[in-house]
Amino acid sequence: MEKVNITIDGVKMEVPSTYTILDAAREAGIDIPTLCHLKEINEIGACRMCIVEVEGARGFATSCVMPVSEGMVVRTNTPAVRDARKVTLELLLSNHDRKCLTCTRSGNCELQALAEKLNITDIEFEGEMTDGELDELSPSIVRDPKKCILCKRCVAMCKKVQNVGAIDTINRGFKSKIGTACNKSLNDVPCSLCGQCITACPTGALREKDATKAVWRAIADPDTYVVVQTAPAVRAAIGEEFGMPIGTLCTGKMVAGLKKLGFDKVFDTNTGADLTIMEEGTELIHRIQNGGLLPMITSCSPGWVRFAENSYPELLGHLSTAKSPHQMFGAILKSYYAEKQGIDPKKMFVVSVMPCVAKKAESEREEMKVNGLRDVDAVLTTREAARMMKEAGINLAILEDEQFDDPMGEATGAAVIFGTTGGVMEAALRTVSEVLTGKELEKLEFEDVRGEVNGIKEATVKIGDLDVKVAIANGLASATAIMDMIEKGEAPYHFVEIMACPGGCVTGGGQPIHDAKTRATVDIHGLRKAALYEADKGLKRRKSHENPVIKQLYDEYLEQPGSHKSHELLHTTYHKREYFND
Ligand code: SF4
Ligand code: SF4
Ligand code: SF4
Repeated sequence: MEKVNITIDGVKMEVPSTYTILDAAREAGIDIPTLCHLKEINEIGACRMCIVEVEGARGFATSCVMPVSEGMVVRTNTPAVRDARKVTLELLLSNHDRKCLTCTRSGNCELQALAEKLNITDIEFEGEMTDGELDELSPSIVRDPKKCILCKRCVAMCKKVQNVGAIDTINRGFKSKIGTACNKSLNDVPCSLCGQCITACPTGALREKDATKAVWRAIADPDTYVVVQTAPAVRAAIGEEFGMPIGTLCTGKMVAGLKKLGFDKVFDTNTGADLTIMEEGTELIHRIQNGGLLPMITSCSPGWVRFAENSYPELLGHLSTAKSPHQMFGAILKSYYAEKQGIDPKKMFVVSVMPCVAKKAESEREEMKVNGLRDVDAVLTTREAARMMKEAGINLAILEDEQFDDPMGEATGAAVIFGTTGGVMEAALRTVSEVLTGKELEKLEFEDVRGEVNGIKEATVKIGDLDVKVAIANGLASATAIMDMIEKGEAPYHFVEIMACPGGCVTGGGQPIHDAKTRATVDIHGLRKAALYEADKGLKRRKSHENPVIKQLYDEYLEQPGSHKSHELLHTTYHKREYFND
């Protein structure tokens, strides 16, 4: 690779010619402030916080987009640079609803951090503020235009990474704002509710719809039996909210923290994931053996399901009818478990802690009910669960490990890897392979199906005499590519795993948010994913069909995977969504 010699703040260095000044400065350990920049996603040089002086050039250079060149001399910290950055930031803040004390992002806001870093103690430019209505119609996402700094990180995430384009900049000049088609609520446009725009946002302008108050109310009610379940990806990230290194596996501490919050039982959604594998795996075998519609596509990512309902309604028959693991588990808790424990399911309140904001909307779907009762009553994101612990004075980082409660707390390694791209596929292959061949697998790891962030992975897996062709896609741009292949009849697969979020649930829209610099310099997905594979390896049982809780559940209640009872409780339907009809 061609290299160039440059000098930044007196430091001489040789860097690839493809670098921007910002890349080079970061490599030299020089901190240039940024706001709109999100590496490889939003590199537009719009906010002008990253300006620097380049010797011989007129005016300031925008370091996030200016490429380095041979002999370049850069100064990042002159009085003129500092003054210009301060004026720019003060102007931004003058048009910002600065209610930090009551903002969900206080303490983790790039705007607030920058104001502190640049020593802003007063705003000289008070004036008219851009107006904008709070949009809180969606069950998953709240948009607060008064906290928006028009950095467009959300727009780039939605359009470029997710290929959805539900939001964009509308109007011009002072009236510019981030809006939707016809300025409707996010709830009323073809948004997948994946929440990736929330994790891209540097401020509190985008956030999840709060469920903490409803959960506190249920816990405080002595007549309500409150059960919480936690998704696999949560344990690999919740520690970050308490200052633990990214990707620290803290299953036992998470359980201890939830018990301290006062839930009556703390169960593992992984048990539901094992159940999903039994139902989905059986459906796949049935489709393969009986000429059913192929490829069959996973249905456990509600952001993906909503995207399919929005964009590919004619292909919905390809989706497995299996509910997602937390919905299955909720349905089992309010039927089998309630019966066994003698609890009135009407008095049971099931809470799911999820890495996802789309699961909030999923839990409110009419189809996610059994006997008129919702499978899941409230969904907390990982961030909200951490917020509740902080509110209760619980520091998860210093808790002693505790175990999930019996009898529904046992789960396998196959279930824990559900939290990353390729995990559902690998879990399914472990079970489908042994069920179809009747032989024990010599090696449990299916490395060929372990996916990377964004993109499609393909593999052919030999199961007995059958060559099973599979594909794994994460991120909605990759989902689009797969669906377009299916639409044209060019998808040669039997089974496809699709996750709405790039990287799968470990980097879901409800997970802890890190600033743009951390995102650019740390492999957040890789670290969290490694934590889940470590958890899988450490478990005694690593195949869903070997989970004794699941075996007992089929023996005592469901009879067998795909039974009438299973269909009643654990399967669902999908429908085309229509917008812009009024
Ligand atoms: S978005 Fe940031 S700066 Fe604005 S109110 Fe919230 S914490 Fe404060
Ligand atoms: S939730 Fe996802 S689809 Fe909807 S606006 Fe945000 S990024 Fe786009
Ligand atoms: S909503 Fe957030 S990410 Fe989007 S433009 Fe506003 S501040 Fe930036």
